[in-house]
Amino acid sequence: MFLELTGEQRLIQDTAREFAKAELDPIAATLDQEGDPPAFLANLRKLAELGFMGLNVKDEYGGAEAGVVAFSVAITEIARACASTAVTLSVNNMVCEVIQAAGSEAQKKAYIPKICSGEFSAGAFGLTETGAGSDPSGVATQAVLDGDQWVLNGSKIFITSAPYAGVFVVWAVTDRSVPKGKGISCFLVEGGTPGLVIGKEEHKTGQHASATNELLFEDCRIPKDALMGKLNDGFRIAVGELAGGRIGIGSLGLGVGLAAIDYATQYSTERTQFGQKISNFQAIQWMIADTYTELEAARLLLMNAAFKKEQGKPFAKEASMAKMYATEAANRACYKAVQILGGYGYTVDFPVERYARDARITTIYEGTNEIQRTIISREILRSIV
Ligand SMILES: Cc1cc2nc3c(=O)[nH]c(=O)nc-3n(C[C@H](O)[C@H](O)[C@H](O)COP(=O)(O)OP(=O)(O)OC[C@H]3O[C@@H](n4cnc5c(N)ncnc54)[C@H](O)[C@@H]3O)c2cc1C
Repeated sequence: MFLELTGEQRLIQDTAREFAKAELDPIAATLDQEGDPPAFLANLRKLAELGFMGLNVKDEYGGAEAGVVAFSVAITEIARACASTAVTLSVNNMVCEVIQAAGSEAQKKAYIPKICSGEFSAGAFGLTETGAGSDPSGVATQAVLDGDQWVLNGSKIFITSAPYAGVFVVWAVTDRSVPKGKGISCFLVEGGTPGLVIGKEEHKTGQHASATNELLFEDCRIPKDALMGKLNDGFRIAVGELAGGRIGIGSLGLGVGLAAIDYATQYSTERTQFGQKISNFQAIQWMIADTYTELEAARLLLMNAAFKKEQGKPFAKEASMAKMYATEAANRACYKAVQILGGYGYTVDFPVERYARDARITTIYEGTNEIQRTIISREILRSIV
């Protein structure tokens, strides 16, 4: 067992950390409070130039082919400065990976290089609907073949990066005669296609800089060959890809949690009460000790899941464990960071309240942590029954 990063992984981690400090950290609070979409998108382009848009994508499609461990550590470093940027990267990587896994050669060549190079600001993953959240088999958007075109009708909600995505991976029902989930297919829809309408933007608790929108399909016509993978195989494709995406969200949570406790620990060495630094109080020391221990455990779970995925081994249970644990540890870290800062921690003058808001969604998206517990227990029980 070897728990050290390789030289290449360390280089990617260092590059991500330096970029985050130089480019993301200085504007993260402004993006959160006031918004600055051009600055946000400019940073995505710079990250694409550095090769961060396709870290786990094959070289032949424009990716860095650096592997899942490298992807995980990079997302953590980016999230330490800006969770919105990190989630955009994570979703982009997921879109590239799903096209790489299920797309035809022509689809891979048409879209993946554009996401990796930054020609597309982003890709979008269009699964969730009002009636299909934790249960994606409830997808109701329809795709009907009309000559040599598919006609899409329906709507999606909560779609990350929708306003600036160059391509959307979209799930729609193609056979209503079979049981729920068996008749869903996966499609690629180009941004700007007539009938694809970007709907209302959600006003969220945190991660303000990343856009989250409704999508509407109003007789949206796409070519017959926009089908990705086999007809009616969409549910399997979605479930497989979500497992990989969970490593990204766990890594993001870890980054936010680390940012919060790093800040609070430093603060505790500067704030004086009762004539001494608050870091002298055992109550503060124990919060610091517990939090760093939990985040280290989260890191190891993430490395385990990422390593298994990289090795081509089954990793779904490990990804769910890592996502669940890391995102809950991150929320606890943020809660304690606010506590360590006292009243100041509850104001926008200090970053820990932003970290707490940014961390909150990580136990919900990419499968809620209740669903992760279902996946984990199902795998465990299956192995003994
Ligand atoms: C900011 C943001 C970005 C997002 N980005 C994307 C995106 O890019 N693409 C995309 O497709 N989706 C995206 N989502 C959607 C996200 O994945 C869903 O919100 C999530 O899967 C939960 O679905 P839901 O919100 O409908 O909650 P529900 O499914 O309604 O769940 C409500 C509650 O019931 C619980 N619950 C549901 N079923 C069970 C069960 N079987 N057992 C135990 N508890 C259960 C849940 O855990 C939760 O606590 C995003 C959401 C947000 C908020």
